[in-house]
Amino acid sequence: MDFTPFTVDDYRARMERAALAASAAGLAGLLIAPGPDLTWLTGYRPPAETERLTLLVLAEGREPQLVVPALEAPDAAKAAGAPALALRDWTDAQDPYALTAPLLGGGRFGVSDNAWALHLLSLGERVPDAAYAPLSRALPMLRAVKDAAELERLAAAGAAADATYGEILKVRFSGRRERDIAAELDALLRRFGHEQVDFTVVGSGPNGADPHHEAGERVIERGDMVVLDFGGLLGGYGSDTSRTVHVGEPTAEEQRVHDIVREAQQAACAAVRPGVALQDVDRAARAVITEFGYGDRFIHRTGHGIGVSTHEPPYVVEGEEQELLPGMCFSIEPGVYLPGRFGVRIEDIMTVTEDGGRRLNATPRELAPVE
Ligand code: ZN
Ligand code: ZN
Ligand code: ZN
Repeated sequence: MDFTPFTVDDYRARMERAALAASAAGLAGLLIAPGPDLTWLTGYRPPAETERLTLLVLAEGREPQLVVPALEAPDAAKAAGAPALALRDWTDAQDPYALTAPLLGGGRFGVSDNAWALHLLSLGERVPDAAYAPLSRALPMLRAVKDAAELERLAAAGAAADATYGEILKVRFSGRRERDIAAELDALLRRFGHEQVDFTVVGSGPNGADPHHEAGERVIERGDMVVLDFGGLLGGYGSDTSRTVHVGEPTAEEQRVHDIVREAQQAACAAVRPGVALQDVDRAARAVITEFGYGDRFIHRTGHGIGVSTHEPPYVVEGEEQELLPGMCFSIEPGVYLPGRFGVRIEDIMTVTEDGGRRLNATPRELAPVE
């Protein structure tokens, strides 16, 4: 997949926008740890999580500063956004917190959700008058609205997930372990262009009733419902789709529960348009499932945002009053879970358009028979 790479100007604009949004939210600045926020803001992906401090400090009107271990500075300098920031490297013989403290001053900072406690607490000892707020709460909408280049990547990731589903329908399920099907999903996602696979859920029979079940040793049998939920990153942006299939002919009840979830998923997708609150999209799905008597078996929120990570704000959940804005991308994934028996989930990624919503997944949502 060939995308026009993001440029230093793209990253500079994102860092400026983030610093402005921080000021507007009453924050002195942002402290960004390795992970999706850092990747989105700078294009830099540190090789692995490490106990050594890497931290981007953003504040309005000041040049962005990236504190980075000296041994990783050469890699950091190669990131597309590096020319727009100052590198502050430190050696193992130095105290990185003493180096970072003067960059903060004091005040309240938004901090990446995944920043290590080690780093934050050590920094707190050096800067006692600083306070911290998790970024997902302080600036939940920072990465929520995608631009055209991001949408292009998300659409490509969705198309690759769709191609994966098309192929998995052709493989044999009965007599094979869940993890064998999961391995095939992994290989297909990569074959269709994913550089990273985040999850390959195969929940067969009673395992499908556990939304967190990944894939295990259970041998899939004729008569099983099987929840498939898979995704990862392509071109740095996420895919995440679910379909529920059946091995052989479903019972009337299995078909009925699937029909209800499909109608709920359709109702939530149809509710997507600018100005609608996120919680109203959740309510649209929940109303259908509740009407048919399964309200207490829909045990999670309707969806989550997606971008440079496969789960991020905004969340499609009761209590979330944020209005939909064109360019937002999130999943719509209602489910019904019957403990000890089976589960059904159907999930597409939606993007908000100027006058409605558009699905980034287009595979059929009917209950598909597999062998
Ligand atoms: Zn069955
Ligand atoms: Zn999913
Ligand atoms: Zn999802």
